Amino acid sequence: MSGREIHVVVVGGSWAGITAVRQLLTLSRETYPRLLITLIERRTHYFHKTGIIRGLVDSNYAKQMFIPYDRLFAQSVSKFNHRIVCSRLTKVYQSFVEIENGARIFYDYLLLATGTEYTSLPVTQSTTARECRLMYQIMRDAIDAADHIVFIGGGAVGIGMCGEVAEMHPEKHITLVHARDSLLNDDLSTGFANATELRLQKMGVEVILNESVISSAESSCNSNSNGIRRRSSVSNMDVGRSGMWEVFPQKLVTGSGRHIACNLAIWTTGSRPATDYLSTLPVSNAKTPLIDTNTGRINVRPSLQLTDANYPNIFAIGDVNSLPLSEKYATSAVDQAKHAVAGIRILIDECYDFRAKMSPSMAADSALRACMDSYSATMKRQQAVVVSLGKHQELSTSLFARFSSWIHGSKRGRRYLIDRAQRMLNY
Ligand SMILES: Cc1cc2nc3c(=O)[nH]c(=O)nc-3n(C[C@H](O)[C@H](O)[C@H](O)COP(=O)(O)OP(=O)(O)OC[C@H]3O[C@@H](n4cnc5c(N)ncnc54)[C@H](O)[C@@H]3O)c2cc1C
Repeated sequence: MSGREIHVVVVGGSWAGITAVRQLLTLSRETYPRLLITLIERRTHYFHKTGIIRGLVDSNYAKQMFIPYDRLFAQSVSKFNHRIVCSRLTKVYQSFVEIENGARIFYDYLLLATGTEYTSLPVTQSTTARECRLMYQIMRDAIDAADHIVFIGGGAVGIGMCGEVAEMHPEKHITLVHARDSLLNDDLSTGFANATELRLQKMGVEVILNESVISSAESSCNSNSNGIRRRSSVSNMDVGRSGMWEVFPQKLVTGSGRHIACNLAIWTTGSRPATDYLSTLPVSNAKTPLIDTNTGRINVRPSLQLTDANYPNIFAIGDVNSLPLSEKYATSAVDQAKHAVAGIRILIDECYDFRAKMSPSMAADSALRACMDSYSATMKRQQAVVVSLGKHQELSTSLFARFSSWIHGSKRGRRYLIDRAQRMLNY
C-alpha cells in the first residue's frame, strides 16, 4: 500500500451504502489507518424505505423511520476525519464527483449505492425528517378521509399497501388495478400471484387485472372546466402533494374505456433507479454501456465494478445495479456492500494506484472474481420472496419453487427490518 491516504467515497446512505461505510471503518481501524471515508447522502437522516408501507398506517412506526447518521462515525479512532456530506451527487468524473453546490470531491474508489426512487410516493422525495413526517401525515389523513381508495399498480408495493390499509380499515372499499393478467412480476410463479390475489380478495380488496388507468376525471359535483386531470400534466411532487393524494369524488378511466369511481387514487408504480449523475462519465466502449437500457440500472460485472473496463475503481451496489430483480433486497444490498469492500481491499493490497492510471494486475482481477463467487453462493441460499398483507399475514415463496406458495401468520407483526436498520446506525 502506498504511504498516502486512500479516499473512498460512498454515495447513498441506506442498506448498501451504510454497510459499505461500516466495513470500511473496520478496515481503517484494523488494517489501513490511512483510509479516509466520505459518505454523500441527499437526506439529512437515514430513511427506512423498506418500511414505507407500514409508515402509512402506523404513526408510531413512522416516527422510527428517520434515523440520524450522527453515530455512524462516532467510534472511529482514525486520525483522518471521515465525514458525511449532506447533498445530492450530481456528476461523476473519472477521479472526482460533483455535488449540488458544484463542490468537487476527489476519490480513489467510488461506491455508488443510490438505490431506487418511488416517484409516485411523495414521502420519498423529502430530504429532511420534518418534511418526511409531514408527508406521511398528509398521506395518512387522505387515507383516513377516503371511503373508496384505488391503488394503481399490483407489484409488491401496491399489494403491500392494499394489505395494510385493508387490515387497518376493513370498512373502506379498496380496489387494486393492475395492467397485467396476474399480480407481481415475471420472476414469480403464477401460482404465487394467484394465491396473493385470493388472500387480498379474502381481505375484501377488489382486484382488477388487465386494465391500465390512463386518466382521472373529476365527478360532476366537483369538476373543473374540462373535468379531466391527467397525471402526466403535473410533476411527481405535485401529484403527491395536491393531486393523487387529494380526496375528491373522481372517475378513473382505463385504456379499455372502463370507469372506476373512487375518492382517492394512489399510484404505486414508477420505481426508478437514481443514476442521473452518470451522464457525465464518458463511455469507453459502446459494447459496455454504463446504464442498462431496459432497466435503467448501472451495468456491473460479477465483481460489482462497472462493466466499462475504464473504471475498475467504481463499484455499484444494491438496488441501483443491474443484478437481477431477485436480488433487489436489503439483505442482498448488505451482502453486495461487503463483497465490494472486500474487492477494494484486494485492489489496495495490490498497490493499485488509480491516480497513476495503472492497470489492475491479473492477481487482483482473479481475486475479485473469487470474492464474487462466494457472493453468488450466498445469494443462492437467500432467494425467497415475502409479500406482506398487513401486520399479521404474509405470503412467501422461493424463487426456485415455481409451483409452490404458502401462507403463514406472523404473530409479532412484521417490522420490515426496522430494528436491524437501527442497529446498523448504532441506535
Ligand atoms: C415496500 C418495500 C418492502 C420491502 N421489504 C423488504 C424486506 O422485507 N426484506 C428485504 O430484504 N428487502 C425489502 N425491500 C427491499 C429493500 O428496501 C431494498 O432492496 C433496499 O432498500 C435497497 O437498499 P439500497 O441501499 O440499495 O438503496 P435505497 O434503500 O434505495 O437507498 C438509496 C439511498 O441513496 C440516496 N440517494 C439517491 N440518489 C442520491 C444522490 N444522487 N445523491 C446522494 N444520495 C442519493 C437515497 O436518499 C437513499 O438514502 C422492500 C422494499 C420496499 C419498497
